[in-house]
Amino acid sequence: MPSLMPSAEIISQGDEVVTGQTVDTNAAWLSERLTALGFSVLRHSTVGDRLNTIRDVVHEAARRADLCVCTGGLGPTEDDLTAQAVAAAAGRPLAFDAQAMAQIEARFRRFAKPMPESNRKQAMLPAGATLLENRWGTAPGFAIELERAWAVFLPGVPREMKRMFEEVVLAALEQRFHLRPGRLVTLRTAGIGESALQQRIGTWTRQDVVISYRSIPPENQIKLRFPPGFPEREMRVMADELAMRIGASVFAIDGLGGLPATLPAATLGLLKERGETLAAAEWGSGGRLCSLLQGAEGASRVLAHGHVCGYGDRPAGLATGVEMVSETAARALAEDVRRATGASFGLGLTVASEAGSEGVATSPGTTHMALATAQATLHRQIQLGGDQDLIRLLAAAAAVDFLRRHVLS
Ligand code: ATP
Ligand code: MG
Repeated sequence: MPSLMPSAEIISQGDEVVTGQTVDTNAAWLSERLTALGFSVLRHSTVGDRLNTIRDVVHEAARRADLCVCTGGLGPTEDDLTAQAVAAAAGRPLAFDAQAMAQIEARFRRFAKPMPESNRKQAMLPAGATLLENRWGTAPGFAIELERAWAVFLPGVPREMKRMFEEVVLAALEQRFHLRPGRLVTLRTAGIGESALQQRIGTWTRQDVVISYRSIPPENQIKLRFPPGFPEREMRVMADELAMRIGASVFAIDGLGGLPATLPAATLGLLKERGETLAAAEWGSGGRLCSLLQGAEGASRVLAHGHVCGYGDRPAGLATGVEMVSETAARALAEDVRRATGASFGLGLTVASEAGSEGVATSPGTTHMALATAQATLHRQIQLGGDQDLIRLLAAAAAVDFLRRHVLS
């Protein structure tokens, strides 16, 4: 399929970015956004605050790509050199922009602050540039035709940059470019590692469909990128085909209509469909299980009770001397909370997430979960790795997934 996609390059500017003090989240965000809109993003460049370097990088990018988006360096301080560098790249002078000045002054008036003389500099834009209003900060952005590109300059502060992109730049992009966005379909999985996933999928390939893997704990995701015009029906067939290969680990498919569902939301959704309720009790997991469940869409109708134990909190029926991170304790947590609330399911979780904590002899990462149902109580033990926070998150997600798989089986 011939590529009719307009191309884009992204430039991040600032000494803090090149020296690693600021992580470049702007480029990642813009890339994802531009790709979704139907641009082919060719390159990211990062430059420090040096006039000639910025000038050259902007000039080169503008010769290669149809769109350049540059962030940073629009502020009032001496290290903010973007406007000057772009003027040099375009071979034009800087010119005073009365509208930019009026917007900057209005902002200072609104916050009842005197405007420092240095902010006057921000009203100097390359001659012929179009002002892009910044209603979320003082540094105005601008856009200019340069070589083959439409080049857009936005502030470095992520919050301002994103708002300006969505509310000012987007409409202009839609007018300027014939955008045919591709589609992204995401298979979301739980309880399966990346390499196991890859094995299940094997050598699956389809022409024009780009497949990639992404790990966002506690999920592993498979992303399918379809080109513009790809028939929706075939997307569904392919997604289902892959979901079949992977099996019960797939808890949701995003991008084919319907709302995206997280693991807890998908699990509670299954209970709701069946008219069942859940009560949970956890020990050693920092409240992570209850917080995952409480935060999920649909929790209010399904989650009857959530109990976060303190270290001295023991299930009533548990004999003294029984270690809290154990099968016996997990079963007691699940059964007690089910009995006390009358919920259809009782979910118990107990985790050694901190080395050497009170009443825990097992090694960090040891996790016991139990699910009490009307018929029986099921148990599962897993060993997790990572720091305390990750162990707790993974343990909570594993407990939710334990419930989900049981309901599906
Ligand atoms: P300001 O008027 O706020 O100075 P500016 O356009 O000059 O705007 P910078 O001075 O380059 O922006 O950056 C301001 C702040 O924005 C930085 O200190 C940093 O925290 C953040 N920032 C800059 N560039 C990036 C980036 N690429 N990714 C994430 N954050 C960034
Ligand atoms: Mg600045």
